[in-house]
Amino acid sequence: MRPARALIDLQALRHNYRLARELSGARALAVVKADAYGHGAVRCAEALQGEADGFAVACIEEALQLREAGIQKPILLLEGFFEAGELELIDRHDLWCVVHSPWQLAAVEQARPRRPLTIWLKLDSGMHRVGFHPEQYQAAYRRLEASGKVARIVLMTHFARADELDCSRSREQLVTFQQAAQGLSAEISLRNSPALLGWPEIPSDWVRPGIMLYGATPFAQPHPLAERLRPVMTLESKIISVRELPAGEPVGYGARFVSERPTRVGVVAMGYADGYPRHAPTGTPVAIDGQPSRIIGRVSMDMLTVDLTDLPQAGLGSRVELWGKQVPASEVATCAGTIPYQIFCNLRRVPLSYF
Ligand SMILES: *Cc1c(COP(=O)(O)O)cnc(C)c1O
Repeated sequence: MRPARALIDLQALRHNYRLARELSGARALAVVKADAYGHGAVRCAEALQGEADGFAVACIEEALQLREAGIQKPILLLEGFFEAGELELIDRHDLWCVVHSPWQLAAVEQARPRRPLTIWLKLDSGMHRVGFHPEQYQAAYRRLEASGKVARIVLMTHFARADELDCSRSREQLVTFQQAAQGLSAEISLRNSPALLGWPEIPSDWVRPGIMLYGATPFAQPHPLAERLRPVMTLESKIISVRELPAGEPVGYGARFVSERPTRVGVVAMGYADGYPRHAPTGTPVAIDGQPSRIIGRVSMDMLTVDLTDLPQAGLGSRVELWGKQVPASEVATCAGTIPYQIFCNLRRVPLSYF
């Protein structure tokens, strides 16, 4: 069997969830959208089911997958419904629902739920993606309240730049939220992972941690709280071929690497078809039998090449960690010009195994 696989440490996932709750002092919806950022939504939700206050997903398809797997905790649809017809399923499966647009509000007013809905009313406090304009927010709240269709309203907004700790934008968004929500006595939910870890002064009854659950830092710089996270995924494979090259020989497509000295090249069963980023350049870190090394040459579809020159013990069958407990996924992402969110979500073809 091909040795590429992703190991998922559910104990680490629970540790990170508890940390989110402990640091925020709030209830926490574990964000498991996009198949739990590539970690497997059902297995991750099952692992958290005993202690999580609830879950959050991007769409009803993801929510129903969890319900069908027997997840009974609250599940929030982070973008609400995409067409009004979904409200019937939302009611039947007891889902919580964001309302971010006037057309959704009108659909809720017209719905005939068997029991009153739980609505998270989203404010656009400055990200300018979805959410009600601050001047429309109070009126939207009153309409929900008056509709008779809603049992509970949670006030929410989302930060655009919470990962930038020297940027004043999050504070401005908070002020906008507080002004728009003035006088409304409802629970509030403002913080994703970077806001939870980086902005302790931002209040929240509910937090919405995503990336931090999976143990990756949302910040570009080192952060003391992010250091307390434990990586959940280890992406690993093995060396399937070794060759010795003299100085001056190219390796891989496009000859992007040319040996400057006699070089021992290891070929790893891992490529961009597995979701490993093709743009990871020469120098991107890996660990080989626990020793630090680097990628050389271009990543290809099913294979990539690493430098074994300084690791004489390593060879055929050596274990290669692409990211995990030794090689932070965020470092690999940075080398490849992206973020850990994307390299997790891109994962495919490799079997996931849980422990
Ligand atoms: C995805 C998402 C989150 C989680 O964000 P992280 O940065 O991964 O913690 C929180 N809130 C909303 C509305 C989201 O869409």
